[in-house]
Amino acid sequence: MCIFCKIVDKEIPCTKVYEDEKILAFKDINPSAPVHVLVIPKEHITSVNYINEGNAEVVGHIFTTIAKLAKELGVDESGYRVVTNIGMQGGQSVAHLHFHLLGGRNLGWPPG
Ligand code: 5GP
Ligand code: ZN
Repeated sequence: MCIFCKIVDKEIPCTKVYEDEKILAFKDINPSAPVHVLVIPKEHITSVNYINEGNAEVVGHIFTTIAKLAKELGVDESGYRVVTNIGMQGGQSVAHLHFHLLGGRNLGWPPG
């Protein structure tokens, strides 16, 4: 079972920010910004490469939740970034679809 599936199953603890039956949001263990939350589907989807007509609904739900969380976390006005890394060159280190919500500092662009 992958590490984020273990977090969903509570085998590994996390600092939870939001949870419902479909998704979980928790603080990144190694934050890159003052606000760094990971939002994941509870269902194991490996990456964007594995989103399809059958499982895509949760992605919309993740984004409506990200909009609410950005407001709750106080970064909606200042601005923030949502990132999902895919595969080796995309910098994905955990093979379970996740969206980084990053904010609370000037993030710069483009990424390194
Ligand atoms: P990726 O590099 O795959 O886009 O992002 C994976 C993220 O998961 C990294 O930012 C890393 O710090 C975070 N991470 C890895 N293991 C754990 C963990 O056990 N708990 C939490 N909360 N975050 C983790
Ligand atoms: Zn998983």
